[in-house]
Amino acid sequence: MSIHWMLSTFRVSELDKCPRQIELKFKGAKELSPHFIQISGKIVHATTKDILEGREPKLDFSEFPEAKIELELEVAKPMDNLQAWLKNPILIKTLGRGAKKQEVKEILDLGGALIEKEMFIDVGDGFIFQGRADLITSDKVIDFKTGLKRNTKEHRRQLVAYSIMGKQNGIITNSNPRLFNVFLGGEAPMAFELDAEEKIDAEADMWEAVEKHKGILTLVGKGVRMPCKISFDCVYCPYIGIICRGV
Ligand code: SF4
Repeated sequence: MSIHWMLSTFRVSELDKCPRQIELKFKGAKELSPHFIQISGKIVHATTKDILEGREPKLDFSEFPEAKIELELEVAKPMDNLQAWLKNPILIKTLGRGAKKQEVKEILDLGGALIEKEMFIDVGDGFIFQGRADLITSDKVIDFKTGLKRNTKEHRRQLVAYSIMGKQNGIITNSNPRLFNVFLGGEAPMAFELDAEEKIDAEADMWEAVEKHKGILTLVGKGVRMPCKISFDCVYCPYIGIICRGV
């Protein structure tokens, strides 16, 4: 049986999702309406795009007007931090240890950066892997994060995926591009750069997750029922309460 065409493309953000959630999405199961975090995420994304493209950000709370005040509070600080960092795109690194420890500051050159560029790569067996970095230049990938968690495995995996896509899509010409997350959820913006070891580990982790995802999609395409992966992530799942409670 051939794989449904919708199954043949998947995004970086879908890796490691619950197998049942992947199956339900394929079957077009009814989704719950978005919750607060998803709505605030959409507002942050639209506002980030406005700011990166040099437009006056327009905050649209129409999807959840009852929570306008809470949503404003949620997005205000990260967006202020984004604007501040773009004016002064600084990376602060701590080098050495003990008495030799020193802080080094660098202003990153964002010249010629493409904004939210959609990229695709062929990952074999008829599957296409898709992703979109916030900013990408010929030698850098920069992705903004608004949450409080910093430098997680998922963050590193995404950056490496974007760098591989950027190279294969002819955007990145440097053989060893620099990869950055800029965290906007704290008091001040903070840029982190992946080191060589983190890049190697993240690339191995990414390919492992890609192969696992391809395997799930192949089984779903053959009509195999996928197991539930109950976790705290169920809170964010659009199918919670519909299928996984036995309805
Ligand atoms: S509610 Fe949890 S177990 Fe059920 S599909 Fe969603 S993520 Fe998977």
